[in-house]
Amino acid sequence: MIQLKGLRKEYGKQTVLDGIDLDIAKGEIVVVIGPSGTGKSTLLRCINFLETPTAGEITVGDLTVDACSTSRKDILALRRRTAFVFQNYALFANKNALDNIAERLIVVDRWPKEKARQKAREILQRIGLADKAEAYPASLSGGQQQRVGIGRAMATGAEVILFDEPTSSLDPEWVEEVPGLMKQLAREHQTMLVVTHEMSFARDVADRVIFVDGGRIVEQGPPSELFSNPRDPRTRDFLRKVL
Ligand code: ATP
Ligand code: MG
Repeated sequence: MIQLKGLRKEYGKQTVLDGIDLDIAKGEIVVVIGPSGTGKSTLLRCINFLETPTAGEITVGDLTVDACSTSRKDILALRRRTAFVFQNYALFANKNALDNIAERLIVVDRWPKEKARQKAREILQRIGLADKAEAYPASLSGGQQQRVGIGRAMATGAEVILFDEPTSSLDPEWVEEVPGLMKQLAREHQTMLVVTHEMSFARDVADRVIFVDGGRIVEQGPPSELFSNPRDPRTRDFLRKVL
């Protein structure tokens, strides 16, 4: 479903991703953990070319794109197969919840407006915000805004949803409802790649946890194994601090 081969990212002399190889199966939930500044966000952002990788190859479904590709068509096709959920929600402040969800369908996926808005209504129902269709982001709680952010990703039917710390901007009182929605998606077999500091989410939901340090995958495995029996000293050291 998703395959990364030798993915590299350099900023000037700094190597941020140092050759990432990763296969994610359809319906698999993969959680990425690791210290700050080790390239977790960069990894996600390279998968849909929010950042241009320096080298390597990205496959999503039946599409393979070389890091060096400059083809606008390839990059757009890759973006259509992926959806991104941001830490800070990244909603349009001047659009209501319904239009925030419909917007990408209209602009990126080229749906007719009415069809997109119909789909957005369906999604609002599924995320429990049917009564907030007309509400603007500023009048929604953090948790509700992030549910709209996730709803926007769900609406696209993307083959994989990339989550970059979806709960870390939330006040503690709102943190629970976002993992709840992500668990619902997991039960529906949505393929997900999730960067999070919420170890309880990783433990409950992940099929596989990947520990990244220094732009490399140091260790990976099912959460039960990785959390209880980490092999690499760097993994042990990290887990000691966060568990
Ligand atoms: P955190 O857990 O704090 O979110 P992270 O693992 O997501 O960290 P990244 O945001 O991927 O880390 O950053 C990895 C490294 O790349 C950092 O050293 C950062 O300074 C550098 N970096 C990220 N984006 C850029 C950029 N646009 N230009 C230059 N350097 C960058
Ligand atoms: Mg990050």
